[in-house]
Amino acid sequence: MDETLTYDLFCQKFNNEETCINALFSARWPNGFSCPCCNHPYFYLIRSRKLPLFECTSCHVQTSLISGTVMEGSRTPLKLWFQAFFLHSTPQGISATRLASIIGTTYKTAWLICHKIRHAMSYTDSKEMLSGLVRVNWGVYGRPYNPTIYRHPQEQPLLAGGSFDNSNQITHLKIKQVPDEHLVYDRITPSGGLSFVSQHVDPAVSDISVVIQKFSRNREWSLIRSCAIASEWINTIFNGIGSKHLQSYLDQYCFTFNAVKRNSNTYETLVLLCATSPTIKYPTLISRVDNSAIHKRNYIGLLNTAG
Ligand SMILES: [Zn+2]
Repeated sequence: MDETLTYDLFCQKFNNEETCINALFSARWPNGFSCPCCNHPYFYLIRSRKLPLFECTSCHVQTSLISGTVMEGSRTPLKLWFQAFFLHSTPQGISATRLASIIGTTYKTAWLICHKIRHAMSYTDSKEMLSGLVRVNWGVYGRPYNPTIYRHPQEQPLLAGGSFDNSNQITHLKIKQVPDEHLVYDRITPSGGLSFVSQHVDPAVSDISVVIQKFSRNREWSLIRSCAIASEWINTIFNGIGSKHLQSYLDQYCFTFNAVKRNSNTYETLVLLCATSPTIKYPTLISRVDNSAIHKRNYIGLLNTAG
């Protein structure tokens, strides 16, 4: 298969740490080294450890190649990180279980790598506002049914926003979970729409419509469809995701969608994001708050019916 062949070719190209060190250096400092403390461009190279240290010739601060990147603090070889970048940049993405078996790490290490990569996507997404002609519409995430536990697909209300071009095509997509405080049961309140706009839309935008009511005549079908396609992808590749970590998977879907729309190389874009985004630590990841009202309501309903 072409996909396997491409991955094999990739592994042949990035088959040693030195190649990965050079690739990471170029992604992190595309215009040459710049000291994080004083922006000085010259350094002494210290190669006494596995990864190089760069000592600024002006202020003498030492900078590790992976500090300030998603790999900071990781003991996993760069070669495996790069394989994970490649597999995350394919249209279908990859689950932690498959990644663990392909790159030969434990499930926990693979899970952490996947989430750190997604964190870089979310971090970058938070800095890029929707602009131009903007449409925002409600959407839904549905989990696959598990008839032994849930009698109904567990649904999550979403808000999807898009920048549109003159042919009414989405050029920049964001899909976000709606926090508990902006929900009445599964209905999104006007404050939810306002909150989405204030966080994700450029304040200079003048042409914008926000549809939060299910049966509004102005609903934007392409955004509703985007949520459905994202849900299908999450359910197919990851077998469904609970509300606690759902946002990072939605951000991954939008990252790939937007990279394709921009005609940019998804792999190169991803390496750049991971080389310039701060990491997220395991305790922060697992302490994410699950603030979905629907989740809580279903759970309480489940307890009541189980009794
Ligand atoms: Zn310096």
